[in-house]
Amino acid sequence: MKKSKKYDIISSISYPKEGAMGKTGSWRVFRPVLDESKCVKCLRCWIYCPEGSIKRKKDDSVEINYDYCKGCGVCANQCPTKAIKMKREGKKK
Ligand code: SF4
Ligand code: SF4
Repeated sequence: MKKSKKYDIISSISYPKEGAMGKTGSWRVFRPVLDESKCVKCLRCWIYCPEGSIKRKKDDSVEINYDYCKGCGVCANQCPTKAIKMKREGKKK
């Protein structure tokens, strides 16, 4: 039987970091708003956020870091319970 070839797995992990123009969340147009009562702690938003702007707490609940969130909406699209809604910046509701 032929032995299967081993491959190294290379992945990139991003961390929120201040850019040359300051905190990167400052030019966001839409902001994700979390309704904790709908969150089932599946962590999909935490896994998929391309900016690493979702913080995973010890109990697996999540918190959004608005200093670095760019408002892309990936977290809202991935959330199975619609606990995250995208709202235009400046609007209260
Ligand atoms: S809107 Fe985008 S950048 Fe902001 S928390 Fe969600 S996935 Fe991350
Ligand atoms: S994807 Fe939605 S339900 Fe899952 S942890 Fe994030 S906010 Fe909670």
